[in-house]
Amino acid sequence: MAKQFVKDVTAMDEDFAQWYTDVVTKADLIDYSSVRGSMIIRPYGYALWDNIKNELDAKLKETGHENVYMPLFIPESLLQKEKDHVEGFAPEVAWVTHGGDEKLQERLVVRPTSETLFCEHYANIIHSYRDLPKLYNQWANVVRWEKTTRPFLRTLEFLWQEGHTAHATQDEAQEETLRMLNVYAQICEEYLAIPVLKGQKTEKEKFAGAESTYTIETLMHDGKALQSGTSHNFGDGFARAFDIKYLDKEGKQQFVHQTSWGFTTRIIGALIMVHGDDRGLVVPPRIAPTQVMIVPIAQHKEGVLDFAYDLKELLGKVARVSIDASDKKPGWKFNEYEMKGIPVRLEVGPKDIENNQVVLARRDSGEKIIVSLDELEVKLPAMLEAIQNDLYNKALNHREENTFSVQTFDAFKAQLEEKQGFIKAMWCGDQACEDKIKEETGATSRCMPFEQERISEVCICCSKPAEKMVVWAKAY
Ligand code: AMP
Ligand code: ZN
Repeated sequence: MAKQFVKDVTAMDEDFAQWYTDVVTKADLIDYSSVRGSMIIRPYGYALWDNIKNELDAKLKETGHENVYMPLFIPESLLQKEKDHVEGFAPEVAWVTHGGDEKLQERLVVRPTSETLFCEHYANIIHSYRDLPKLYNQWANVVRWEKTTRPFLRTLEFLWQEGHTAHATQDEAQEETLRMLNVYAQICEEYLAIPVLKGQKTEKEKFAGAESTYTIETLMHDGKALQSGTSHNFGDGFARAFDIKYLDKEGKQQFVHQTSWGFTTRIIGALIMVHGDDRGLVVPPRIAPTQVMIVPIAQHKEGVLDFAYDLKELLGKVARVSIDASDKKPGWKFNEYEMKGIPVRLEVGPKDIENNQVVLARRDSGEKIIVSLDELEVKLPAMLEAIQNDLYNKALNHREENTFSVQTFDAFKAQLEEKQGFIKAMWCGDQACEDKIKEETGATSRCMPFEQERISEVCICCSKPAEKMVVWAKAY
């Protein structure tokens, strides 16, 4: 038999960026395309997205949202209606100038986000307090002309959902903004086993056109942060620009209060960089398209394959189970499904059949146990549950071990040089200090966490009195 190619990846500690690139391609998540910064999401990558999408979509429906679909193009004049919004997005939009041979009367942008389209629509359909709230969501692709790109983390075109809601009052809008941030946090923590830090963005980092922006920040294996989802409260700013008004119960005209929030394919990048290891991807069981891969041993021997297929059927009732009965060697299969991060491998060969048992191997810890057949239907789901919890706890420990508090700018710089992570420090609230810290260290303010601590009395940058604790980090 010809020697079968065994895949491996660059060690994480040797070159983390190369490790990431190796994993996304060798685990068959993506392929590069001829369009700069755009990726082909392959079946395994798309299966992960599909699962995230289904889980999140169910939560959006549970919380009362309805899916809609908006056009891909936004006329230039519409994008320009809200001043801050257009300023923020203009540098990174793609323009359509021609239809066939004909120059368009008005240029169109390929949507970078759809606030303006939703606002135009809301102005048409909202008239009375009875029309509120409007809780719309769209699953779509958007385009942002990013300068530097990386698969999943930052692509020119990405897939996401964008929620856009309109409410009678500012309090309701604020409640919605935080509700949806919590939905994102839940998806990350309970489903993807990724702990999140919740907080508010500074003025400098908030969304173009928002009154306030909230974020979930996650910490990657290399100590860099990733903004993993954002939720914005627009107040009535967009409503004023787009004239979205309703008649209240007293018959008075009022502007609506709006929110928007987005969650993207970027989260697959987080999944890779939080859980992955030197053997490739590690996928938490809840999101794994295949939770258990059956690898028959000595499958040419009589009865082995039949037995393996029977097991697949039996265990299919308690888990998502696949079988690889191809003629590739077991060693190749072990390697392949480790690379793909499949949570559990089940090995079964003639000896096991004789002894009424199988071998279960955990992808995360490498632990192997022998399980008798009568216990399998109980022990397998328990193992999947344990993996899910252990992955979360491991990620949480890693984050805690890599979260530092500093009281001075010197200590801040020293920390970044020694080891990257989340750095907690006090800030006076002045953007000049925020700019200076970024300029001198490369770290950006990730958020003002909801859970505040008083690390010291003064701003680490200017030594003026400081009320706010900010978490800083170098970020993707
Ligand atoms: P925004 O509409 O700017 O609040 O973006 C919503 C979320 O999209 C952000 O919180 C990021 O997690 C994610 N995101 C932003 N830019 C990109 C990109 N180029 N590729 C993938 N995800 C992105
Ligand atoms: Zn300051």
